[in-house]
Amino acid sequence: MTYWLSVALQTPAHSAVAGPLTYRSELPLTAGTLVRVPLGSREVLGIVWAVSAHPEPGWTEETTRLAGGALEGLAPLSAAWRQLVAFSAGYYQRALGEVALAALPPQLRDLNAVQLARRLKPRAANAGSVDSAGAHESPPPQDTSKLIALSDQQTMALHHFGSKPGPFLLFGATGSGKTEVYLHAVASLLARDATAQALVMVPEINLTPQLEARFRARFDPLYGEGTVVSLHSGMTNPQRLKSWLAAHSGFARIVLGTRMAVFASMPGLKLIVVDEEHDPSYKQQEGARYSARDLAVYRGRLEGAKVLLGSATPSLESWHHSRPATADDPGGRYVRLVMPGRIGEAAFPTVRRVNMNHQPLKTVFSPPLLDAIRARIARGEQAMVFLNRRGYAPVLHCADCGWKSECPHCSAHQVFHKIDRTLRCHHCGFTQPVPRGCPACGNLDIATLGRGTERLEEHLAELLAGDTRPDGTPVRVVRIDADSTRLKGALESQLAQVHAGAVDVLVGTQMIAKGHDFRRITLVAAINPDGALFSSDFRAPERLFSLLMQSAGRAGRDAGFVAASASASEMWIQTSHPAHPLFEALKAHDYPAFAERELRERRAAAMPPFSFQALVRAEARTQDVAQGFLNAASAAAQTQLVSRPGLDAVMPRIMLYGAVPMSVQRVANVERAQMLVESGSRAALQRFLAAWHDILRQTRTQPEHKGLIRWAVDVDPLTI
Ligand code: ADP
Ligand code: ZN
Ligand code: ZN
Repeated sequence: MTYWLSVALQTPAHSAVAGPLTYRSELPLTAGTLVRVPLGSREVLGIVWAVSAHPEPGWTEETTRLAGGALEGLAPLSAAWRQLVAFSAGYYQRALGEVALAALPPQLRDLNAVQLARRLKPRAANAGSVDSAGAHESPPPQDTSKLIALSDQQTMALHHFGSKPGPFLLFGATGSGKTEVYLHAVASLLARDATAQALVMVPEINLTPQLEARFRARFDPLYGEGTVVSLHSGMTNPQRLKSWLAAHSGFARIVLGTRMAVFASMPGLKLIVVDEEHDPSYKQQEGARYSARDLAVYRGRLEGAKVLLGSATPSLESWHHSRPATADDPGGRYVRLVMPGRIGEAAFPTVRRVNMNHQPLKTVFSPPLLDAIRARIARGEQAMVFLNRRGYAPVLHCADCGWKSECPHCSAHQVFHKIDRTLRCHHCGFTQPVPRGCPACGNLDIATLGRGTERLEEHLAELLAGDTRPDGTPVRVVRIDADSTRLKGALESQLAQVHAGAVDVLVGTQMIAKGHDFRRITLVAAINPDGALFSSDFRAPERLFSLLMQSAGRAGRDAGFVAASASASEMWIQTSHPAHPLFEALKAHDYPAFAERELRERRAAAMPPFSFQALVRAEARTQDVAQGFLNAASAAAQTQLVSRPGLDAVMPRIMLYGAVPMSVQRVANVERAQMLVESGSRAALQRFLAAWHDILRQTRTQPEHKGLIRWAVDVDPLTI
């Protein structure tokens, strides 16, 4: 008997073969089975998407090829998993096979049957030994989580979490003990349900080791080693495969990971935690540009798993979705849990604004800030200074002829890196040695403009050269940013130095502002945060507020330490707009006030979350070609879709803007343009995008657009 398999495979995006391909099989493989199938002259990995005993017209022995074997020993991917992938592909406008295969560990593609069997075996043996020891199946011997007495607000949050279906937004101040709430939610789930699994996501790879340590300390003693696994792109392929198999088999009960983990195959999934849910890192920025946070909510509903989003500065979307009901508003669909206070007696840092209008021009560290940093060091405390720009100086400049260090391949400046005396483009990576003199006029006196973290570190080290620590030794300044942590293990060792107290001042980019539990930092300073106040990106204030609030959250986390040191913790802001409402809200530690004001503005301007957006980006050798393609596809949509049945009602709800150059319009000699599509209805936008996709593809095939390099859709874009 012949069966007809519809198989999802990785095929080039936008290629004609975007949907699943049909193969024959002598065996009735079930949907979700991983199979090897021939594609051209290669054999590739695919997922059986559907099986039929009856061929459709055109399916014959001549037109279809015979599928290879199934991957032995692997349970089929569940219907819910396939639905998650299908939804993601549809929603984010990508090929099904691309999303499906990208969601699997890369090594699964490369292993032959023998190799795979070997990978599966040790885990089974391992599982056996744990089971035989009785740790896996019998009730946990001792619940160590009881050792920490929950605060009242943690108890309250967990109580509501346990008694409602959710989804939940846990709005908890930095240091309010959100992680402890996650641990408890997971603990009670695992104790209650012997096959349940929990997925816990964090935005950054850097945050996973710390989280893994905390989860393993809590759960390994209860359920044995291998209960907690991580999944993120910083792992080697064999490690990723191992974790994935453990999750897929149900052996691992807890999966910790970054955004990619939202696609982990977890047959017993009952809880999804999204920590720091506001973080832009949850949005994938290439290929299928999915939001792992949004997919977590979708997946939770799909699989009947509870979803817990947590943040001290929620995204305005989640804040809006969790608004309480009022007389004329039924409220949002999320349940808001609130933990306003910090654990113990830890106070929130006092926010101090330095009015830079009253400082001499070009002041980097205002005297009051510098004095405050010195005072901290003298007391043996640590300070953290951040600036959102790496490198030494953003531009090199010739005062004689006006030359600037522009990247020859991008519409951007090359950044001066002093450490290796290079000019580097942060967009295309193009790197050159620093010229001796001005390349345009030969002037030897070329100067830096502006400053980055490297220069800040140098400058601060000079300013503090005469200062000493309480033990009389010299002050140590350390920088942590993407440059200083390029080498493997560098970040870990730098963080370890900070934790060990070997560092007095930590200088860095937003990398240091996120999540790390620095216990001895009592002062945090933002050197120059003003840029985001007047950005053309409507989300810039939201990001700035959250960054500052998160950074402030790094200060004074340890009540005991702060009480012992005579000083309260402080957050310093150097700004030319000290009275800006954003800083006022920050000073009052009042996220709700900030959010309310922003949401009012967004509502008035019909911006998300009060409207829905998608961007189509196009790349070509010239702006004309890139914009021409977008405008042609837009015109074609307007003429073709208005009369198409089903879409005639959708089109009046769609706003198509003109094509414009992207903010960095040329990168690596490629011109980039974008077009914004907006609608008051998510469903209408989705209907439109689905129909527009074919028109975009057709438009591309027209001769006048042959110079187009690529185009892609970004649904719910985070930057515009
Ligand atoms: P958040 O994630 O909200 O910033 P954490 O969960 O990291 O906060 O908690 C901050 C600190 O307080 C951590 O060191 C944690 O171990 C500690 N902590 C959390 N809950 C409690 C509690 N109930 N009792 C004592 N310490 C706690
Ligand atoms: Zn010059
Ligand atoms: Zn460049």
